[in-house]
Amino acid sequence: MLVRSIPIKLKVNDLIIKTIELYKIGLQHCVDVSWDMRIRNNIKLHPFVYSNLRNIGLPSQLAVSCIKQACGIVKRAKNKPFINKVSVRYNPPRSFSFKNNILSISTIKGRVKIPIQIPEYALKYFDWKIVESLLTQNKGKYYFTFTFAGEDVQNSNQHKQILGIDLGVNKLAVTSDGRFYGKNIKQLRIKHDKFVSILQSKGTRASKRKLKNLSGTWNRFMRLQNHNISKSIVESLNNGDVIVMEDLKGIRTTAKYNKWVHKWAFRQLQSFIEYKALDKGIRVVYVNPRYTSKSCSVCHNTKTVRHSGFIECKICGHNSDSDFGSSKNIAQLYQRNMCRAIVNTPVDLASDDSVLNV
Ligand SMILES: [Zn+2]
Repeated sequence: MLVRSIPIKLKVNDLIIKTIELYKIGLQHCVDVSWDMRIRNNIKLHPFVYSNLRNIGLPSQLAVSCIKQACGIVKRAKNKPFINKVSVRYNPPRSFSFKNNILSISTIKGRVKIPIQIPEYALKYFDWKIVESLLTQNKGKYYFTFTFAGEDVQNSNQHKQILGIDLGVNKLAVTSDGRFYGKNIKQLRIKHDKFVSILQSKGTRASKRKLKNLSGTWNRFMRLQNHNISKSIVESLNNGDVIVMEDLKGIRTTAKYNKWVHKWAFRQLQSFIEYKALDKGIRVVYVNPRYTSKSCSVCHNTKTVRHSGFIECKICGHNSDSDFGSSKNIAQLYQRNMCRAIVNTPVDLASDDSVLNV
């Protein structure tokens, strides 16, 4: 199953603008209640907010979307969230439909019909199934981002999973099906480095011996982590599936490669994934990581901002964990350019033991 999102500029009227405003007020209300009452589940939140949402004038389907969306936002938040931009979630056929180039969407005063011109490149997706889509506003412009689910022609006769893996900015590895590995390693590494610099400044014979031991300890620890992570990733896949990773050769120039885990650790993780995958008949391919951390994983444009581990799209308003977004981009990059990906680049298996620079 593939998912594509196509943002289309809308000519809007006052009703739609008011609907977005009300949805925003409703969303903030749900977020406040969810946060204050510590309810993160939309079914449990429902009785506390639904009638308020209906009273301010939201149609029932948008009220339901609002509650769900609020729980998602609160679940990810570290501090009480303030909504300054909103994407109204529409679900077909209950809150919108699209037929003969006419978009019909729910507003605070019933359905509104808007004629839409589909750009030529997007025509083929309108044969796919339309799923939950977004109404967004950005700098006075309005967009309806259609989301389609379908099968690529190249994959139509097979149901292979394509799993993208993003290698560490904040976590060691994040997969495009939403698994996070090695979240605590960055902290451990910082502690480790502090200890190393204390020992180095001492410069005694005992401290030098300790340093040597420490280096070995850290390498064994990373090796074990990499074994466990690669095992868990490969175990979730089946014969015929595809793993997509970043070509580390490109990482040096993208500034994504970071200080806290040395490149050998990433290379080791890739090599462990690779040999476990090949054993199970899972293909491993590598793509150029350029833009994978900058692009929106929903609408694919690069007008995004990053803040404290999250990436927010300036066009469609999508907001998600930045490493998770990258992993989805990596999988999608392979799907879009299947022939250009490098297949099974040999990874130097010897390097994981021979490199011991901590
Ligand atoms: Zn976007």
